[in-house]
Amino acid sequence: MARDIQSLRNLGIIAHIDAGKTTVTERMLFYAKATHKMGEVDKGTTTTDFDPEEQQRGITIYSACVSFKWGACDFNLIDTPGHVDFTAEVERSLRVLDGGVVVFSAREGVEAQSETVWRQADKYGVPRLAFINKCDREGAEFHGVVEQIRKRLGSHPLPIQIPVGIGPPHVANPFRGVIDLVEMKLLTFTEEKLGAEVVAAEIPAELADEAGFYREQLMGELFNFSNELAELVLAEEPVPAALVKSVIREATIARQIVPVLCGSALHFVGIQPLLNAVADYLPSPADLPPVEGIDPKHPDRKLTRKADPAAPLSALVFKVLADKHGDLYFVRIYSGELKSNSRVFNPGKDKKENAAQLWHIQADRREQVPTATAGDIVGVIGPRLSITGDTFCDNAEPILLESILFPDTVISMAIEPETSLERKKLAEILEMLKRQDPTFHAIENEETGQTIISGMGELHLEVIKHRLLRDFKLDVKVHKPRVSYKETVNGSAQETGRCQRTVNGQALFAECRLKIEQRTDDKPATVGTRWITEDSQQKQCVVTQLTAIKEHAAGGGLFGCPLYNCHIELLPLPFPEPLPGEVALRIAAADTFDRVLKAAGVTLLEPIMKVEVTTPEDHVGDVINDLQQRRAIITGSQLRGPNTVLDAEAPLSAMFGYSMAVRSLSQGRASFTMEPLRYGPAPPNVQENFM
Ligand code: GDP
Repeated sequence: MARDIQSLRNLGIIAHIDAGKTTVTERMLFYAKATHKMGEVDKGTTTTDFDPEEQQRGITIYSACVSFKWGACDFNLIDTPGHVDFTAEVERSLRVLDGGVVVFSAREGVEAQSETVWRQADKYGVPRLAFINKCDREGAEFHGVVEQIRKRLGSHPLPIQIPVGIGPPHVANPFRGVIDLVEMKLLTFTEEKLGAEVVAAEIPAELADEAGFYREQLMGELFNFSNELAELVLAEEPVPAALVKSVIREATIARQIVPVLCGSALHFVGIQPLLNAVADYLPSPADLPPVEGIDPKHPDRKLTRKADPAAPLSALVFKVLADKHGDLYFVRIYSGELKSNSRVFNPGKDKKENAAQLWHIQADRREQVPTATAGDIVGVIGPRLSITGDTFCDNAEPILLESILFPDTVISMAIEPETSLERKKLAEILEMLKRQDPTFHAIENEETGQTIISGMGELHLEVIKHRLLRDFKLDVKVHKPRVSYKETVNGSAQETGRCQRTVNGQALFAECRLKIEQRTDDKPATVGTRWITEDSQQKQCVVTQLTAIKEHAAGGGLFGCPLYNCHIELLPLPFPEPLPGEVALRIAAADTFDRVLKAAGVTLLEPIMKVEVTTPEDHVGDVINDLQQRRAIITGSQLRGPNTVLDAEAPLSAMFGYSMAVRSLSQGRASFTMEPLRYGPAPPNVQENFM
C-alpha cells in the first residue's frame, strides 16, 4: 500500500565529519528495528556506509536512502556525506529532503564545515533540528554550543531539552540523561540494554530549578508564535504539551526556530526523543510549497505541482547506484503516483524509460512495492539512459524540474588501459561510475589512447582509482593527478583576420571578423552570430565560420585550457566574389580567433581550495609556515578546545600530497578538509610553464 503523505518524513542527517552522524544513524535504525545488530563505525560494520571504500576509510561518501517506520511515521533517511570533498553530494541530498537533523559535537561545537552545510541548507530552505552529541566527552558543553549556533550560524536555536550533567563518568557531575522541557520529564536510558529502554521520571528536586529556568525560557520564546500559548502563560495557567508541540512544529517548519536536543549516540542516550522530535516537528511533504518546474516545450512557461497523489507524476532522480540486479535509481516523487511496470517520460532527454520495479530500501533488506506516491522516495530499477538530476514525469503532462547543479571539476588524472580488452571494460565501468557520481567526469582521448578522469579533489580521484584497481580489478596504468586550469579574457576586443595564400597556384582568400566580450557568469565561452543572409551559399559560408569558431572555443584559448567567462560573436563582413571555399573560411576563422584573444589578453586561472586545518597548539607555527610556502592565505584562526583551527585559501596545485605533509608536520595529530572554492589567476611562473 502506498504511504500516507502526512506520515512521511524525508530526513537528512547533516554533520561535520566525526560529529557522530554515522553513530546517530545506526542507533536510529536499531531502535526503529530496521536493523538487527547495532553497527559500530569503529568496527566498520555500519549500515548506511555500505560501500567498502567508505568502511575502509571510515567516512561517509555515498549517500543512500534508508526507509523505516517510527511510530505512525514513515521515515526516508537520506544519508549525506560528512567530508567536504563531496559537498556536491550534500547539495543533492538537500535538494530532495524536507527536514534535517544537524549533529554537532558538544566538544568541538560549530566547525567551519558545519557552517558551509548550514548555509547550503538555508539556500534550500530546509527546516532543521540540532542534536548536540557527545555530551559524555571530556570538555563537552551544551549551552556554549547553543550560543555558537546562534552567533556563528546566525540562527535561532531553542533548547527543548537540557543535559543532566555533562562530561565523562569520572567528572563530578557526569552526563546521565536529559530533561525534556516540553513534557517536563527526566529521561534516562539503560546502557546495559543498549539504551532500548527509555525511563521517563519526574524531575528530581535538585534539578527542578534548572529545569524550571529553561522551561521558562522556552515558553518566553514560544510566546511570540502563538496567542493561545501567550494567554495561558500570562494567566499563569499550565500549558498543555500538545499545544507546546504544535507551536514548536509551526515555528520550525517556518524556519523561525531550530529546536535543540542533546545526547550521546555512542552511549545510547537521546536517540528515541530525537526520532520523536523528527516526527513531531519536521515537515511532511504536504507541509511544503508545491514543486516548481517548466514546460519542456515552452521553457518560459513556469509550472507547479502540488504534493498530491492525484496530480500528474513528477519526480526527480537524485542518485544512481550500481547494483548487481541493475542500476538502482533513487527517485523523489513530488506529485502523482509511480507504478511498477510502467513507462515514465524523461523530458530532459525526450525519451521514455521503464520503471520496472520499485523498491523501498530498508537497512538490512529491500521491499518491493507496487506503487509509490507523492512525497515518497523510492528505488527504481529499469531506467537506462537517465542520470542524476533528470526528471521523470507523465508523458501527457510533461514538466521539467530544475536539475541539480554540480560544481566544475578541478583535478584530473590520466589512465591507460594495458590491453584493448581492458579498454572496453574500463569504458563500461567509467560510464557506470559517471551515472552514479555526477561530479566525476571521464573523457577518452583517441589520439593518445589515454582516458582522462576528473573530479573534485585528490581524495575524490583516489577513491575512484581504488575502485578501478581494487573493486573492478582493472589492469590500468594510472598517472599522477593534475590540476584542471581554465583561462579567461582580460577585456573585450574586436579583430579582423584573413586567409591570403596561394596553394597549388590557386589563390585562397577569406576574411573573418570577431568580437569578444568579457563576462562574469563563470560559464564556458559561448559563440554566436546575428549575421543574417538570404542567399543559401552565403549562409553556408556563415555556418562554416561559426562552426570553426565553436570548435576553436571548445578546444581552449591561448593556453589550450577551457575558455570561460566570455562571449564570442561572429560579425558581418561583405562577401567577396567569388565566395571563399571551406578551407579558406576555416583558416581565416582560426587566424581571427587567435588575434581577438591576443587583443583581449588572456589569464590562466587555477582552482583555489578552501582548506581548514585543525591542529594541536604546539604545531600551529609549523603548519602555518608550510601553508604559506604553498601560497596559502590564512583567512582566520580560532581556538577550539585544545586545538587551533586554521582557515586558509590555497591553490590546489600547491596542495598535492597535503594529507601526508600535514601528518608528518604534526606527528599525525592535525587533520584537514579541503574543497574547491573558486578559480583565481595563476601566478606568472605557472603561466609561463604553459607557454
Ligand atoms: P561521522 O563522521 O559524523 O559519521 O561520525 P561517527 O559516527 O563515525 O563518529 C566519529 C567518532 O566519534 C567515532 O569514533 C564514534 O565512536 C565517536 N562517537 C560518536 N558519537 C559519540 C558520542 O556520543 N560520544 C563519544 N564519546 N563518542 C562518540
